[in-house]
Amino acid sequence: MRINDEYGKLPGSYLFAETARRLKVYQAEHPDADIIRLGIGDVTMPLVPAVISAMHIAVDEMGKKETFRGYGPDYGYDFLVNAIRENDYQPYGIELDYDEVFISDGAKCDVGNIQELFSPDAVIAVTDPVYPVYVDSNAMAGRAGDFLDGKWDRLVYLPCNAENGFVPELPSEHVDVLYLCYPNNPTGTVLTKAQLKVFVDWARENDALIIYDAAYKAFITETGIPHSIYEVAGAKEVAIECCSYSKTAGFTGTRCAYMIVPHEVQGLNSKGERVELNAMWKRRMSTKFNGVSYPVQRAAAAIYTPEGKKQVQEVIQAYLENARVIHDGLISRGIEVYGGINSPYIWMKVPGNMDSWTFFDRLMDKSHVVGTPGAGFGPSGEGYFRLTAFNSLEATKEAVRRFDACLL
Ligand code: PLP
Repeated sequence: MRINDEYGKLPGSYLFAETARRLKVYQAEHPDADIIRLGIGDVTMPLVPAVISAMHIAVDEMGKKETFRGYGPDYGYDFLVNAIRENDYQPYGIELDYDEVFISDGAKCDVGNIQELFSPDAVIAVTDPVYPVYVDSNAMAGRAGDFLDGKWDRLVYLPCNAENGFVPELPSEHVDVLYLCYPNNPTGTVLTKAQLKVFVDWARENDALIIYDAAYKAFITETGIPHSIYEVAGAKEVAIECCSYSKTAGFTGTRCAYMIVPHEVQGLNSKGERVELNAMWKRRMSTKFNGVSYPVQRAAAAIYTPEGKKQVQEVIQAYLENARVIHDGLISRGIEVYGGINSPYIWMKVPGNMDSWTFFDRLMDKSHVVGTPGAGFGPSGEGYFRLTAFNSLEATKEAVRRFDACLL
């Protein structure tokens, strides 16, 4: 059996495996160290009562002959699809057809799987630093070339750094697909509607596709920041949007997300004919996916009820308060800080001329705080460090206080 050689090109240790390895070694050597984790982007607060109660009811339904359900619809139950259209899009003036919404078990799967629709030689652009799934999923499919000196030689990298205000430049060469994630992981920064329009216009003029990852849209606090790329006129012709309940409603372990594939989005086949990506995605989903379980879709729909909305908002506000504590606390310590206002992520400039892995080790050793080195998210992440707002308020405050020991 011959294997896919592209897997062999992937850089060895995944970022969080390496941070976990270093932490394990440190803890073995310092068993008494009280470590505070502001590293991995996993939520810590439990599911809200409205979600739990909807899930209980749905589980009971599955235990009765009259209400039992087998395979669900391939693209999601009506009640959830319609709740998404009515609550996540109509308030922003966006009308979606019923069959443009696809319920899935995660945005990671969606952004990882969508590349199956692209030609093997499609040119892919990513912002740098970047959520690694966009890069690795294309690398596995052979679209990234070779990994040389920390970069894939066939990918187009669009650097985002303090110098350009974390707003990427438009690609200077031909690109078929651009991945954008706003509010951004890892930088926590956002694009205004006017800034996003520049990318939509570029995609329309250049026959390019934008994969827009809005997994963190629930954290947007400022006005003028789009919650959906479709708030920009013309975006429905050039953009696919991914959203997730993971961070919105604490579903990282429960698993539910959705992707919007408008009918207007088309690609060119090798005969030069235009083909709807919506039809391709339907074909792909019905072949390779059997839907998200009924109780989980009921649980997701519960966040759109009045009490669900209120409860979920309280959790988001608590995480945003943690983000504010980190943001303000680091600024008052003279550190350059980005993100943390419309996002649970804080992206700090590493003090001095330290590289981000050295700072990771130093912060763990001097302050017993764990974060994530920026270099792990791409070459332009070097010199930066990511902290997350998903710990408790007390632990977050303590972590910020402990920064003093590391900065001395
Ligand atoms: N997209 C981004 C930018 C993320 O940061 C994450 C998770 O950290 C995901 C997608 C994955 O979301 P899900 O849990 O729905 O797979």
